[in-house]
Parts: sequence; C-alpha cells; structure tokens
Amino acid sequence: MKKSFHYFLLALSAGIAFSCSDHETEGDPYQPNYLPSIDATALPAGNRPMTMFEDNESASRMYDNKDRWFRVNQPMQVIQKGKDSVQISLYSPVGLTDVKIYAKLPNYEKRFLIYNFTKVPAFHRSFHKIPLTEGKNDYELETGNTVTIDKIEGFSSGAIEFSVESSDPLFQKFKKIKSSHLVQFSDSYHLNDLGKYLPMNPVLAKEAITMIINYSYALSHPLYYSTFTNFDKYKKEQADLAGTAINGALNWHGNTEDANGTYDYYTKEQIEKIYWDYLDGRTLNMAMVGGDSAWGGGALASQWESGYISGHWLGEMSVWSHEYSHHIGFSHSSNLANSGEGGGQQEMLTHFYKYLIYLNDLPFTDPEVLKGWTKTSYLSGTYKKPVFTVNQKNPFLLKYKGEGKWN
Ligand SMILES: [Zn+2]
Repeated sequence: MKKSFHYFLLALSAGIAFSCSDHETEGDPYQPNYLPSIDATALPAGNRPMTMFEDNESASRMYDNKDRWFRVNQPMQVIQKGKDSVQISLYSPVGLTDVKIYAKLPNYEKRFLIYNFTKVPAFHRSFHKIPLTEGKNDYELETGNTVTIDKIEGFSSGAIEFSVESSDPLFQKFKKIKSSHLVQFSDSYHLNDLGKYLPMNPVLAKEAITMIINYSYALSHPLYYSTFTNFDKYKKEQADLAGTAINGALNWHGNTEDANGTYDYYTKEQIEKIYWDYLDGRTLNMAMVGGDSAWGGGALASQWESGYISGHWLGEMSVWSHEYSHHIGFSHSSNLANSGEGGGQQEMLTHFYKYLIYLNDLPFTDPEVLKGWTKTSYLSGTYKKPVFTVNQKNPFLLKYKGEGKWN
C-alpha cells in the first residue's frame, strides 16, 4: 500500500527555525493546494519578462558582468534578488518545457517545489516573488508528498538553495555537463586593443553561448574522457589505420620545449588532473579576434566572427581548442595546445566534435535555432547557412562506426 505523508513546517522566526510534524495519511484526508504552474512565455508585466541578447539590444548589457554571466553546467540560472524575489535566466538558444525549481531551506533537509514552469523560452529572464514570503502554502516534495510552510518574511542572501529539474531532453543534456566554467563577455580586450580584438554584439554573443555549451558538453563526454586519458592509444590506432609510424609525441606533454624527440610526458595522474582542469570553475572571458591571430590565456579565449557564426556548426573547433588550452595554461610547446607534430588535442578534439555532430549528440546541432548567418547588418563578413557533412575518414567514425552516443 502506498503511504503518503503530509508535513507541516512552522516558521518560528525569521531566522528560519522549524518545528515539523507529519501526519500520516492512509486514506489521505489532506488535499494539498499547490501554487499554479507558470507559463514564462505569457507572464504579466509585474514579472518584468524579457529576452536577453535580442539582436538590437545594446552591447553594454552583454558586457555587464554583474548582470550577464552563467556557469556552463547551469544554463537555467536562479538567483535570489533582495529578501523576497528571484531572477530566473535561461542562457540557451532553445527554450525548455517542464522546468521545476526546487528550494531547500537550511533547517529542513527536503527539497520542495516552489516554481513549476510549463515553458521557459530561449534567452528568457523574469523576476518572481518567493511564494514563502507571501503566505502559508502547500508545496510538493520530490517524493510527491506535501509540506505546508508558514509565511516567512524574507530570506538573507544564500539562505535558500535553489535547484532545477526538468524532463526536457535538452535539459537532460545540460545536466551531463561537468564543467562549471563561468562564462562572460569582457569589453576590456577591444577597448584596450582595438583591432587585435573587435567588439561583439548580441547576435555573436548568442552564437558564443551556444558554442561554449556544446564544447563543454563535448569535453564532458565519456568518449572524450576515455580518449583524452588514453591519448597514447588514440595515437597508436591512428597510425595503424593510416599505416604509418606515430607522428610526433606519443602522449600528452607539457610546456617544456621538445629536445630532439624527448618530451616532458605527463604521468597518468597528471593527465587525469589536467582533464579536470578543463572542467573546473574558472572564469572564461569570450572575445572576438580582429587581427592576424586568435588569442587565449588567463580568463581569455577568443575566436573569429566566422568561427562564431559558421565554424562551430561545422565542427571547426581547432582554433577554439587551441585558445581554450592557453586559457587552461598550456603554451605552444605542449601538444595540448599545439597541433604540430601529428596533431595534438586540437586535431583530436576537432575530429571528436565532428563525430558528435554526426551522432546528433550535442545540445545544439541545428544552426536554424539562431540563423546567425542571415543577420547581415550585425556582421562584417558574409556567410551561407552552415551545412555539416562528416568525413568518412574521421578517426572516431572509423573506430566507433556510429556507436558511442551518450545516452
Ligand atoms: Zn597560440
């Protein structure tokens, strides 16, 4: 027999202390009265709904690092504002359905549902009163049981932990991203060095966000992990398939210059740690190249306009991998950044990324979601719609033959 429980939490003070009693319920006499679900495509003005990165939005908004930033594993972002409200933002070119935002209070171990969004559109932002501050309400627990919580006047910042769940297949892909890099745009590069870097606009920012979510998913992918941590095996297989000797270094090596084929190879333990460096929580400033070459290092990684508008949809991620590796701390003498000597990570990542497009195993593989190439008044180059085709000699295609999709 299924037993359900109804809990009652009493707020004793604004300091959030509770007494809790659950009444049991065989034959359940308690009929919970939950808050209505919310359609974020049709919000009243009081919620201040908006679309971030509208094509014609002032670029000053995207360069405001206090307002626009997200972690790549949390494109659906919930931030408390003041004592009684939250701001929700979706950093994604495709909207989500069935988004459930759970709250957890310090003195009560269970998560309960405070907002149930039927739809959240692409790049949406809006503001919502925390229902706990508005009155006594019933809330659904993750188990399906009910908790009743008295009105709480307000919350200090950080007192509520928010978490997001969704049955949407796109959200399921977001959940697999292991990197927590904090992504933002910085105008300091083009303001200090105009020409070497160029200002971006929301059309480019949307492409950059799409690319970094896809790239972060690719780095998190089990096939990438196994190839990265067994790069020597990948090199041997690649040489076997081509019927050649191994070209260049057999495994990952560091920033020390090669002395006649003697490389400063990393140990297994170091390689494992380096893999996780790529997926840690450091800040990434995405910028756009204007001069002869792309740059990366420290928080910076940059890319050409063509890379943002067209290249990433075709899996042309070689430059991005190179600059991102500078951002992680590798110089041109390491094959983690350099594609010389038979191709290091740049070449391997590019083959792998193309294989994921072929498998349709990235969060976003359809350039129609942004149509960046059509927005000519925001671009300096001219582009056609990117149309991806896989090379039959792609080493991942040859090895995995259509298998390996991340379930
Ligand atoms: Zn470089």
